[in-house]
Amino acid sequence: MSNKLVFVLNCGSSSLKFALIDSLTQQQILSGLADSLGGQAPFIRFKYRGNKQTIDLHSNTEHQQAIDSLVTLLNQLGLTNQINAIGHRVVHGGEKFTQSVLIDSQVLAQIEQVSQLAPLHNPANIIGIKACQLAFDTLPQVAVFDTAFHQSIPKHAFLYALPHQLYSEHGIRRYGFHGTSHFFIATQASKLLNIELEQLNIISAHLGNGASITAIKNGKSVDTSMGLTPLEGLVMGTRCGDIDPAISGYLIDQLGYSQAQVTALLNKESGLLGISELSNDCRVIEENAQQGHVGAQLALDIFCYRLAKYIASYTVPLGRLDALVFTGGIGENSDTIRAKVLAMLTIFGFELDPTANTTARFGQGGQITTNQGPKALVIPTDEELVIAQDAIRLTTSASSDKE
Ligand code: ADP
Repeated sequence: MSNKLVFVLNCGSSSLKFALIDSLTQQQILSGLADSLGGQAPFIRFKYRGNKQTIDLHSNTEHQQAIDSLVTLLNQLGLTNQINAIGHRVVHGGEKFTQSVLIDSQVLAQIEQVSQLAPLHNPANIIGIKACQLAFDTLPQVAVFDTAFHQSIPKHAFLYALPHQLYSEHGIRRYGFHGTSHFFIATQASKLLNIELEQLNIISAHLGNGASITAIKNGKSVDTSMGLTPLEGLVMGTRCGDIDPAISGYLIDQLGYSQAQVTALLNKESGLLGISELSNDCRVIEENAQQGHVGAQLALDIFCYRLAKYIASYTVPLGRLDALVFTGGIGENSDTIRAKVLAMLTIFGFELDPTANTTARFGQGGQITTNQGPKALVIPTDEELVIAQDAIRLTTSASSDKE
């Protein structure tokens, strides 16, 4: 069987992550990042066959030119002709998209409509799609939505206790994000535990710079911590997660903040960074906490307490728990945070295996508890692989439909 290569793109406002993936062997042939786009010193950093390289771009290079530079790079590496499809990560699919789709003009218009729900994220995704349509004009493009996996959440869990008309007329509700990762975790946990996906009950904790937790019942998302936007829920690198919504008004009315300053404060200056007054990077927080930095210790305590509280609350939608799964940069690598959180969850009877907890770091994964009943697992996530597989599945079924 010939290879099925997919170029996967994840466009942010000033950066662009990319990977070339063989969907059959699951190997990343090429991966990298174009960063500081629109700024003074943009660059592309990539890894190809184990070698890392950097390409400096002209100042003010924007997404379209960065993608053109990627096409040149793919040409130089002799890879362009082997690509079968382009897969785009799209942050918000609203209620329109319950699964991945082939992009045509109608789909693009619908993604544009949904953008008002995610003004910080979707516009960059759309720029990436349009740039790829120009650069790879003969290849099919597929959109994979962060929100799609959560469309199975029931109404009583996705509605806020706000006037109903805000939902019915304006779509204000919980959508949830990181769906591609939570779905991947569910499929991997199903294999590891040897339980059919349709019967699997897990809690998936994706802990990266952004962090979210999902209750997965019978293989489907039934509740998740992020909401209308990725700001709600857990403590994150720079995002506050759950707070009293009246704090925004207080900052504006009593402390003279503007709306834009409040948005920046809650999204970019809070979380681990805000509490520790040190860093949003969990490694820095852990190192400093160990050396007695009070702010770093507090940041870890609040992060773990909030996480443990969410985990316990998801017994409500799940009833039975097969496993708690840690993933994302922090979830996969921080044995400290995993140990701290499990110690707060004595109600589940977790007994940590300290050796397994240490060896599970850096991509190893595995089971880290020894008790009967619910297990705790570490599973490295791979959102790019899901995007690549969806892109191949959709382009293959579209071409067989035509035959
Ligand atoms: P993103 O949400 O940007 O994809 P990642 O999933 O890459 O983020 O996670 C980034 C986070 O993972 C950072 O806070 C980083 O400090 C943390 N991290 C990475 N390695 C370790 C480690 N060994 N110990 C603790 N935290 C780690």
